[in-house]
Amino acid sequence: MAKSMVCQYWNEKMETLPRPELEAYQLEQLKTMVAYALRTPFYRERLGREGIRSGEDIKSLADLKRIPFTTKQDLRDGFPYGFLSISRDEVIRLHASSGTTGTPTTIYFNREDIGRWTSFVARCIYGTGCNHTDVFQNMITYGLFTGGLGFHAGGEAVGMLVIPSGAGNTTRQFKLMQDFGTTVVHATPSFLLHVESKMREEGVGRDSIKLKRAFAGAEPYSEDTRRRIESLLGIDVYNSYGLSEMNGPGVAFECQAKNGLHLWEDGYIGEIVNPDTLEPVPDGETGELVLTILCREATPILRYRTRDLSAFYPEPCICGRTHRRLHRIKGRTDDMLIINGVNLFPSQIEEVIMSIKEVGNNYLIVVEKDGVLDRLTVKTEVGPEIFMDDARPLNALRERIRKILQASITINPRVELHEPGTLPISEGKAKRVLDNRPRDI
Ligand code: AMP
Ligand code: ZN
Repeated sequence: MAKSMVCQYWNEKMETLPRPELEAYQLEQLKTMVAYALRTPFYRERLGREGIRSGEDIKSLADLKRIPFTTKQDLRDGFPYGFLSISRDEVIRLHASSGTTGTPTTIYFNREDIGRWTSFVARCIYGTGCNHTDVFQNMITYGLFTGGLGFHAGGEAVGMLVIPSGAGNTTRQFKLMQDFGTTVVHATPSFLLHVESKMREEGVGRDSIKLKRAFAGAEPYSEDTRRRIESLLGIDVYNSYGLSEMNGPGVAFECQAKNGLHLWEDGYIGEIVNPDTLEPVPDGETGELVLTILCREATPILRYRTRDLSAFYPEPCICGRTHRRLHRIKGRTDDMLIINGVNLFPSQIEEVIMSIKEVGNNYLIVVEKDGVLDRLTVKTEVGPEIFMDDARPLNALRERIRKILQASITINPRVELHEPGTLPISEGKAKRVLDNRPRDI
């Protein structure tokens, strides 16, 4: 791979800031965030116990370790206003997490917070090569979910023509793409796969649309899924990572090297810890990502345990940015399935099946009890041509998928092949796992 590459920076000074200056900047921001956090009873109590009573008690970045972790449960316990650190009159917006893992949590922004968030998203968008000549169709849920409005504002800041199409309604999405010459879209990877299947089904010709790029995020997906979307649609796909507790999109994003996501370290401090011991792991090793926000006064959240599994790349990126890169998120600590004692992340299954070319764009993982044992079934869609009178090709393909899966995950799954369009699809984050095992009480 090339040693360097030409890139466009949205904010060259900050994106290429030498590490010592970047860390000095982080320290100043951290002091400010701690000062805001101390206005909430939660942090006053938690930080007070560690002897932190003002922002000035943070003397160096090493003092971050004195700050206790904040968990999702802490945020829930503080619902609705427990983490608000400014007067309600100064708040101009709230957002909430999608609530996929329980009661949603709420975050607040003042005007400056919205401005900072927007410029981080603009930085991500611009860094992929987009500019004011692009037409951007934001095919993601608007509303309390941060992905819609976050990207909308970032796209406008770049000067693109933004089409707030929202998620779903594929036929209308094609029409918008054709009518307005859309060049960039933002969607979940599962929705992009669905869009591609629908294009073929509805006979929408690739040459009738001008699409060049997609931003895909909000849920985990493998490198094979990225390659599949890129080759089927003939576009570049960039991985976009964010979470509402840390504003939403704009936390970490791929540059044109497409090799890891730059964590914007002037907006966030990232740590990777062992989820059991909570001790830091060496660079390059996988662990739980812990994030501290440096750019939101209204709801400062310190050392937040994201439950997302990732690792830092130890070496710098060829694009010249000094902000460290994260590996694509492998899954969440709470996504891990234990099947007959073997640990398994849904992403491991996805990686295998998306590399098999006969397998379609949609799949579902089902786990059930079969007597005392767990049974794993992987359901995938395959092309219509295989459902002919002769069952042999179908059986052979099923057996081939089963063998490839077993070799990779060391669990013997049942494989079911379904006709295209028969497995459930979702407009927002895809639900790929049905764990039907009775829960121990
Ligand atoms: P929410 O707060 O509802 O926006 O959900 C945020 C969560 O979505 C994150 O903590 C991740 O688990 C997941 N997520 C977002 N973006 C990505 C991505 N690019 N890859 C993997 N997971 C993601
Ligand atoms: Zn880079």
